[in-house]
Amino acid sequence: MTEQLVLGGKRADAVSGETFEVVEPSTGRPMATVAQAGQEDAKRAVGIASEAFADGDWRRTTARERGHVLLRAAELIRERSEDLARLEARNGGKPITAARGEISLVANVFEYWGGAPTKILGETVPIAQPGIDLTLREPVGVCALITPWNFPAVIASWKVAPALACGNTAVLKPASQTPLTALEIAGVLMEAGLPEGTLSVLPGPGATVATALISDPRVSKISFTGSTEVGRQVMQTAAQHIARVSLELGGKSANVVFADADLDRAASSAPLAVFGNAGQDCCARSRILVERSALDRFMQALDDAVKALKVGDPLDDKTEMGPLISADQREKVASYVPDDAPVAIRGEAPDGPGYWFPPTVLSPVSNDDRAAREEIFGPVASVIPFADEAEAVRLANDTIYGLSGSIWTRDGAKALRVARAVETGVLSINSNTSVRVATPFGGFKQSGYGRELGPHALDAYTEVKSIYYATS
Ligand code: NAP
Repeated sequence: MTEQLVLGGKRADAVSGETFEVVEPSTGRPMATVAQAGQEDAKRAVGIASEAFADGDWRRTTARERGHVLLRAAELIRERSEDLARLEARNGGKPITAARGEISLVANVFEYWGGAPTKILGETVPIAQPGIDLTLREPVGVCALITPWNFPAVIASWKVAPALACGNTAVLKPASQTPLTALEIAGVLMEAGLPEGTLSVLPGPGATVATALISDPRVSKISFTGSTEVGRQVMQTAAQHIARVSLELGGKSANVVFADADLDRAASSAPLAVFGNAGQDCCARSRILVERSALDRFMQALDDAVKALKVGDPLDDKTEMGPLISADQREKVASYVPDDAPVAIRGEAPDGPGYWFPPTVLSPVSNDDRAAREEIFGPVASVIPFADEAEAVRLANDTIYGLSGSIWTRDGAKALRVARAVETGVLSINSNTSVRVATPFGGFKQSGYGRELGPHALDAYTEVKSIYYATS
């Protein structure tokens, strides 16, 4: 398989003519050769996007027409969902059933934003002067959209769909390890009728391509999903020309299990809440906080659930966990499980080839331990006992992150009390899910700021303009 860049909607080689290989994590073998963008390509793509924005072919189409393009894209994604899911499963090493769910979410995101343009409303504002004051939501301009490798198609859709719905033009920089489905989605959008110039996709090294995009003064908006460390650099570079920035960064979320919860449900869903996507999930509930009086019962049920987890070939329908994305990632994850680590439960994993790591539960862990403080981004969970509600809240909040989390209890008032007290952007009660297409998603603290999904994403891709019309 060979892939070119997408430059303003057209396929093109990189200016340098360079290419790189994309590897299939379950085998460690190359699966595609992809054109490698560099600084020159970034400059070209931003030039095309800024001319297209100025020409207004996209932002001046009617809201209804813009919506139709996105709705048509959703339809095409559904028609091709099995091929897209297989591509995502192979490239990301994720179980095919999970990949099918992700592609279905991508279609739903385009559908949601396909309905949005006709509902982007302004306001009339009561004022003291003789006249009428009204507000308009205008597109921001050229958007640089930078995505990570763990949910490549999903996170691309979270950025591309609202950016386009609001009338912007965009350049997407997918992660080098997983550029394939983003390139396909760009093709779908062109087929759906997106005007030329509106969207480019530039696979290539982040330090070069993404930095060139972010530092280009013609870029008005940067939406970045990735590590907190790189997010910090993105903010600094964007500050040079005051580009708008939204950041979706790392997490170290708590799964708080009270003794009065349905312990079987809490324990049986806890493994996939950490080991889903092989733990490479910003929402991974990798700190499992368990009320001490229920610890033994919970650990027994957790042991059964972890050992039942099917780890293996991503394309097998029965697989629940695949490999890690790369050898480097496996090495990083292994460093959190040294020989003297308190390994309480260890599941199975194939020997290789590929980048496998067994699902692993450490217990008991102190919240001060490295495994509990740092984002591991692999299938390693830490069980941390607590004495009471106050300690559970203190431990849940004792982290630099604040992205996601769960609370398990049959006491509704306690659930809501704890939910209010936990400093995190997304929480679920008696569930381990984090993402719903119509609800805002994003972090507190060093998990970033700004919201994707749902109506709040409008704030990221529009500027509010106030107009005063004098009537006297
Ligand atoms: P990463 O290393 O920060 O990379 C993310 C993206 O930034 C990639 O496209 C990468 O390109 C690019 N990049 C690399 N260096 C850059 C630089 N100096 N300037 C600008 N861009 C640069 O993150 P990752 O390892 O791909 O993804 C894992 C991280 O993403 C985890 O921390 C995870 O929690 C976070 N994440 C957060 C969310 C959320 O919604 N909060 C969702 C998913 C993932 P290359 O691929 O070419 O290096």
